[in-house]
This record gives sequence, C-alpha cells and structure tokens, in this order.
Amino acid sequence: MPLAENLAAIRAAIHAAAKEAGRDPGGVRLLAVSKGQPVEAIEAAYAAGQRDFGENRAQEAARKFIQFRTSHPDIRLHLIGPLQTNKAADAVRLFDVIETLDRPKLAYALAEEMRRQDRHPDLYIEVNIGHEPQKAGIAPESLADFLTLCRGELKLPVRGLMAIPPLGDDPALYFRKLAALAAAHDLAACSMGMSGDFKTAIACGATEVRIGTGIFGARNQH
Ligand SMILES: *Cc1c(COP(=O)(O)O)cnc(C)c1O
Repeated sequence: MPLAENLAAIRAAIHAAAKEAGRDPGGVRLLAVSKGQPVEAIEAAYAAGQRDFGENRAQEAARKFIQFRTSHPDIRLHLIGPLQTNKAADAVRLFDVIETLDRPKLAYALAEEMRRQDRHPDLYIEVNIGHEPQKAGIAPESLADFLTLCRGELKLPVRGLMAIPPLGDDPALYFRKLAALAAAHDLAACSMGMSGDFKTAIACGATEVRIGTGIFGARNQH
C-alpha cells in the first residue's frame, strides 16, 4: 500500500481505538518512526500530513533531518533510542523531544547542554517496565528518586514516560503499569505502543504511539 494509505489506515485505527476506550482521539499523538527509512519516505509522510517523527540514533537523525527541518520547521523530532552521554549536545541541538532519559549521568549531561545551548527539548523518562536486564530504562521502583533529581535538582522539563514492554507477554499489563506510574507522578505524556500493539496501548492510556513498519513498511537494515 502507498504510504499515504497506510497513514490514513493507522490514523483511523487510532481514532477507533480511542473512541472504543472512551477517550478523546485528539489525546493520542502518532509518532512516525522513520529509522531505516530514506528522506523521500519522510517527505511523503510529511506531504500526507505527518508532523511527528521518531528516530533511534542521533547520527542517522542528523543526517536525514538537519536539512529537512530547516525547510519544514513545523515538524517535531523525537529521539526514541539510547543516548550516549557524549552525544547529549547533538541530541539537545536536534531533537524536540528526547524520550530515552534513563540514568543520572545523562540527566546531568542534558541539563548542562540545555543551559549551554539555551534549548529545552521535552524529556520523557524511559522505564524498564518489565525489569528486563538487557533493556534500557530506569527500574520502576527507582523512578521516584530519579524524578526528584531530574525535576528538583536539575529542573529538567520532564513531561512523560516511555517504555517498551517485554516480548511474548501480555503487553496490557505493562502498559497499565506505565500509565499508572505517569499518573502517580503527574506526568502528562505516556509514550507506548508500536505497530503490533498500539490499539492495546491506547486502551491502556497511551498519549503517544510510535509506529514504523505500519506506516513505512519494512525497514532497510543498518
Ligand atoms: C523501531 C521502534 C518503534 C517502531 O516499531 P514498529 O514495530 O516498526 O512500529 C517504536 N519504538 C521504538 C523505541 C523503536 O525502536
């Protein structure tokens, strides 16, 4: 299917899932995950009305978006992959939302860069919601202390939480847990749900779903 049709189908599915959950469809943002996709695909999505884009590597995002965002200043670029401390400056310069704040060292580095550049992308904290040793994210039980550091001491603009649930388990359990954590800490944004499980995520309270293959089709491997 052409990209514009994929996008329309995903938008319709988001709308229906929100309605079914008794939620305002306007409360769910669609993030088009363009990792592994060429700039032409991003242009096609933009032409079809898409404005939020997600990339998981700062370097790839810089290559594809530095020019694109100059000519399309109304896009919002989200970082959804791991961020090394030594790339904090690039990330603050390039992204409008950084969804993978997951450790104190990175919080300090981002605070320093935001001060230096006087640029303040929104931040989400990534939570390791399934306690998976191989996965990034702060442990759920450490979230309260980490928030105290980020919001209290460092005055970082933390707006939400992000998570990827464990594979092969019922994602709803984890989505509900993430939504409850966001509510308990007064965080408005809850980034959860991908191509395979976004309807469940919306039923559980997602305010943002991150969809790659459902919009763009298969990715080139990098
Ligand atoms: C790649 C990726 C997505 C999108 O995955 P699809 O299954 O292609 O929709 C969402 N979130 C994160 C963090 C990703 O890395």
